Amino acid sequence: MVSVFLEDGSSKTVEDGASGLDLAKAISTSLAKKAIALEINGVVKDLGTPIQDGDKVKIIKVGDNRSYDVLRHTTSHVLAAVVQKMFPSAKVGVGPATERGFFYDFKILDHKITDEDLLKIEKEMKRFAEGAHTIERALVEDVDAKLAEYKANGEIFKAELLEEHRNNVPTEYYFVDNNGKKLWSDLCAGPHLPSTKFIKHLKLTNVSGAYWRGDTANDQLQRVYGTVWWDEEEFQNYLKQQEESEARDHRKLAKQHDYFSTHEMAGAGLIFWHRKLATIRQELQRFWEKEHLKAGYEFVVTPHIAKSELWDISGHNSFYKDSMYSLKVDDEEYVLKPMNCPFHVLIFKNSKHSYRELPIRMAEMGTVYRNESSGAVHGLARVRGFTQDDAHIFCTKEQFKFEIQGVFKLINKIYSVLGLEFKVEVSTKPEKAIGSDDLWSFAEAGLIESLNELGIEFEINPADGAFYGPKIDFKLKDALGRIWQGATIQLDFNLPERFDLHYIGSDSNTERPVMIHRAIFGSMERITMVLIEHFAGAFPLWLAPDQVMIIPVTDKHNDYALSIRDYLIDNDIRAKADLSSERMNYKIRTAQEDQIPYMLIVGDKEMETASVNVRYRRSQDQVSMTQDEFLAKLKLEISSKLLN
Ligand SMILES: [Zn+2]
Ligand SMILES: [Zn+2]
Repeated sequence: MVSVFLEDGSSKTVEDGASGLDLAKAISTSLAKKAIALEINGVVKDLGTPIQDGDKVKIIKVGDNRSYDVLRHTTSHVLAAVVQKMFPSAKVGVGPATERGFFYDFKILDHKITDEDLLKIEKEMKRFAEGAHTIERALVEDVDAKLAEYKANGEIFKAELLEEHRNNVPTEYYFVDNNGKKLWSDLCAGPHLPSTKFIKHLKLTNVSGAYWRGDTANDQLQRVYGTVWWDEEEFQNYLKQQEESEARDHRKLAKQHDYFSTHEMAGAGLIFWHRKLATIRQELQRFWEKEHLKAGYEFVVTPHIAKSELWDISGHNSFYKDSMYSLKVDDEEYVLKPMNCPFHVLIFKNSKHSYRELPIRMAEMGTVYRNESSGAVHGLARVRGFTQDDAHIFCTKEQFKFEIQGVFKLINKIYSVLGLEFKVEVSTKPEKAIGSDDLWSFAEAGLIESLNELGIEFEINPADGAFYGPKIDFKLKDALGRIWQGATIQLDFNLPERFDLHYIGSDSNTERPVMIHRAIFGSMERITMVLIEHFAGAFPLWLAPDQVMIIPVTDKHNDYALSIRDYLIDNDIRAKADLSSERMNYKIRTAQEDQIPYMLIVGDKEMETASVNVRYRRSQDQVSMTQDEFLAKLKLEISSKLLN
């Protein structure tokens, strides 16, 4: 008999050789029906895996957090089986689960998969899954024979993977029908569902190009994406959210509102900010500067290039070289800065510091350049040049907890003004790290205590810190509940060491400062992208590129419209008058489509009483008020940064 520990701490005894399914049955029949996989000592395995004495076992049921990856990954094999049946020349790559679905890569020489194909494949996949085929695992006993078989069938990618994993107990999985007939197999480490019968709520979403192992030097493959869910309700919710996301896609809204462009002539991933988005950026930056001044930061400005030598000292040349652009100046190698950190370090190092001057909080809107592959650049999300809202805090060991809390408060303030919710994650020491264990425990404990003292809930990402120190990540949640990478706070023991930074301590000894890297927006590109999608282009008044559109009823009211426009502009309001020959209703509709917060309709009555008729972008109501009253209303809404 073997005895295992269950999730609730109780133990259960089953026969020798019992599988997870046997265990589930021993617990309850209803559990056995919903069981799809196992978590053994923290690792997800097939439900059929034999359990060992002393294991900590959790039965993974339909709908559990860790059940989705198993469902999605298994569905990718169904996709591959169907594609190989429909297109016999198709060779298979890999098919992982993604955050909301799965994909599988294929090489098909004689066919390019179309949207119509996707519908057909999807239909076939559903039919195949309905067959309730069991999924069985088998060791690859004779690796060389299997290799020869793959090669003979032209499955070069599978052969490559098998060769790589030949010493890792490679396994194959089979779809087996009711009669025990093997239908299809794939080299895979698993885990998978016990049967295809669970796969019902599925949709293939798109097909795109991908390179084998993401390397442009390799074969180009066709990547088919899909999504799959446990029940109809969550499936429909997902589809609805997808539709909404597509409507808000920042690249789509950028075209509609003329926010930004990129140019083949200039190069991929280089963003040209047009008037409206540049205005939003300026407003964000002003807000950012004001809040940083209040929080005791000082601003600096540093160059865009520096000698390669500097990046040797900073360590970037050994850790980051592939991402850096270099250029020759006077026969010497220079690097376009990928980060601002060493520059701020040089400013700190330029003068002697006493403990009394610390902390020094140095901030800069620093434009950096990183070499993303041209295939990876994507709208504002992945770019080659971007501006970080960067800052570095130099402080004593005693101060760093307080400083972390200060950064947290600043982040909290800035995000709440923007209406963004967030989650906090702490990443701890990775496998490859510099600095002593003592230093790491000190830093990790400090980060965690700082958050605990503020009463902040957070999750731990074990071993996910930077090599030079632990970090706190902020995951932003937008209006659709989507998660984006937001602010980061990183502790660094490395750069102060490499640049030999020091200050004079209270006992006149030389001490090493602690360095904190932090960015709140991440970059101006990232935050504006998140905000475009979060607000779906309908920015709150303080950020709106055009705040007021004045619409004369007929052209005899044009002069009055212009006088109001000038009055508002004089008072720092971004106002325009629409004097085109279009009809009034058309002008109202255009202003609404442009998401201009306020429209002022002015005709005879308004001219006679020196008033305006105010209409909000999302309302049919019109309210009459004097010009001064309207201005006061705007000023209040702007200064309080009211959300919509
Ligand atoms: Zn698999
Ligand atoms: Zn930095």
